[in-house]
Amino acid sequence: MNYEGQICRAPMERASFMLPVMVGCSYNGCKFCNLFRHLKYRVLSMEVIENELKRVKECNGSPKKIFLGDGNAFDLPTDHLLSILKMIRDYFPKCEMVNMDATVTGILKKTDEELKALYDCGVRHLYLGIETGLNDVLVFMNKDHNLSQAYEAIERIQNVGMIYDAHIMTGVAGKGRSMENAEALAAFLKKTRPAHVVNFSMFMHNEVPLYKEVAKGTFVQADELECIKEERRIVELLADSETPIVYDGFHDFIEFRVRGTVPKDCGKMIKKLDEAIAHYEEEEPIYSRVYGQCPNLQRCDNGADVWENPTYICNDLDKSFKCDTISKD
Ligand code: SF4
Repeated sequence: MNYEGQICRAPMERASFMLPVMVGCSYNGCKFCNLFRHLKYRVLSMEVIENELKRVKECNGSPKKIFLGDGNAFDLPTDHLLSILKMIRDYFPKCEMVNMDATVTGILKKTDEELKALYDCGVRHLYLGIETGLNDVLVFMNKDHNLSQAYEAIERIQNVGMIYDAHIMTGVAGKGRSMENAEALAAFLKKTRPAHVVNFSMFMHNEVPLYKEVAKGTFVQADELECIKEERRIVELLADSETPIVYDGFHDFIEFRVRGTVPKDCGKMIKKLDEAIAHYEEEEPIYSRVYGQCPNLQRCDNGADVWENPTYICNDLDKSFKCDTISKD
């Protein structure tokens, strides 16, 4: 299969067989996201999906875990998803679970019976873009859900036995609001009990609508030091989590990562974060700003290139490209 777009999935899925069932994201509206902005959303035909299953089987593949791509596969109509899951079972009866990204609104559109049927056909982990614990930030970022909807969706998938994993984003609340966001997020995570939390700290690309907000002055970006401090506070607050959470935090722009299981590993994670904080307190502020297309993203020189040279703004939105995963193992 000719994969279209950027492969971006949680690190826990790096060994899964990635089976695209759609191209892009049917929502494609989050202000900070440039993953699928250049792609025309479409659902792949059953024939294309079956050919890919056949190809892997003919290579003697026998995946235990399958990850359905792309941006929000769980939002597909339930009947269609069930047909895909049945086909997976026919080709790979030993497959133990099928995981995918989901949106809160996509979950809420499904009935409890539909959720149960999907669980019975192998769906286990759903990765939700929670991003923030603050309602006004969800609105500003055009996330298409609010916190009470997120609580409801998570409770409903957990009730049928599915496992919820949270994607969060330090820096999403902007400069000066990192502690407020850390406290709200930690409270949300403790109540909702995800199995995994992945922090993809803000990575500002000049193609995204949020870039225009920065240029207008309606969003002030937090620097990397503030994002690391925000993450430190989240980890510190998760030290009294009643359930273990596997935490993985990526600050790709400065190539910093902190991971562990909270609460067990909170001490060593905080130590690592404190070392990074001490280091970046001695540096000029660093802002995660990039332009270009993955995998050839380029860093901006103090933001000057991306903010001052409009020719870097992507004007070729229909062009597909292939690249490697953004997250690292
Ligand atoms: S963050 Fe997720 S839901 Fe939002 S536009 Fe990107 S892929 Fe779609």
